[in-house]
Amino acid sequence: MFNELNNRAADSLLALIKAFQADERSGKIDLGVGVYRDAMGRTPVMRAVKAAEQFLLENQDSKKYLGPEGDLQFVRLLEPIIFGKSPAFGSRLVGIQTPGGSGALRLGAELIQTANPSATVLLGSPSWPNHAPIFASARLPVKQYAFVDLASQQVTFESVIAALSSAVEGDVVLLHGCCHNPTGIDFTMEQWREITDLLVAHRLVPFIDLAYQGLGDGLEQDAAPTRMVLEAVDEALIAYSCDKNFGLYRERVGALYVMARNGDDLRKAESNMAALARVNWSMPPDHGAAIVRTILESPEMTAMWRAELEEMCQRVNGNRAALAAAAPELAFISRQRGLFSNLSMPKETAVALRANHGIYMADSGRMNLAGMQPADAGAIVAALRAEGC
Ligand code: PMP
Repeated sequence: MFNELNNRAADSLLALIKAFQADERSGKIDLGVGVYRDAMGRTPVMRAVKAAEQFLLENQDSKKYLGPEGDLQFVRLLEPIIFGKSPAFGSRLVGIQTPGGSGALRLGAELIQTANPSATVLLGSPSWPNHAPIFASARLPVKQYAFVDLASQQVTFESVIAALSSAVEGDVVLLHGCCHNPTGIDFTMEQWREITDLLVAHRLVPFIDLAYQGLGDGLEQDAAPTRMVLEAVDEALIAYSCDKNFGLYRERVGALYVMARNGDDLRKAESNMAALARVNWSMPPDHGAAIVRTILESPEMTAMWRAELEEMCQRVNGNRAALAAAAPELAFISRQRGLFSNLSMPKETAVALRANHGIYMADSGRMNLAGMQPADAGAIVAALRAEGC
């Protein structure tokens, strides 16, 4: 039967990692794969995570099954960080632990497909390359619309309004809560307000993907758009990832929250989430969520985590400022947020930047700002100019 399969392309970013490792030039710069890096170029285990692992090693006395919902204390302790302390909509929320933000997106997609198989998912383009395939594999039609013009690095807000205005009641709108991947271009609060009005007016369901809270302008500011939307709409889904803001990538830590109109709907959503989790992965992996729970149960570890996250955020924004200061044509980078910026360039230019200058970024022109040091700004600008960017 396997003979019937077609070969599928390997992840091009993984090929980029190998090419970077094989490059022997000393000045090479890795702006490729999307993980945080410190000033030494490492992706460290955060100090609070180490402390929590130590605590778990000494105190965890069982690894028995927890159930399809995973660690519900983890799910609850994240709530004030994401949604604020006692929000008005708090009683209409329910959450379940998932394998990363990806698992939350997949579970949310299947929940939507179960509840309303005729829903279409509206997705601003470009987006994280896994978004469209996740929804498509859950048998939901995806309608993509351009939301930015990369040549000018501006939101094309007319196209956002047009897409939302032409959607049908019950359609789902995927929104990046903060730190847009791959562009770093987030909506202003004013634009979020207009989007919220359209969601309400057309009875659309927001599905907010919040994968980088704390890496844009800080934990509170990064959650502000999500909270504003949730205050206004009847129903919503939130896919949350702890993999970046706790540096837990391979531990696969996330949660799916659903906001429903009333307690009846909430219980239906909750039981369906558990049933869908059961047939997908049965139960989520525990270790990463146990680490996050342990941190959030301890004021000392929480303070340690918040301080280190703040350092990470400042480092990325410092790199943004350094690039912007080195070249007026890159001033937009200091206004963008999160790990990424997506320059407008053909694939050949990304290839030439690697071959001629040892500067590695995705073929799409997406660069990870955490992969550089402020002192690299001059070399990056010179290379971009030499290649006609
Ligand atoms: N959403 C976005 C926008 C992402 O960039 C990512 C990870 N790159 C995810 C979701 C998935 O995160 P996780 O690794 O927790 O599955």
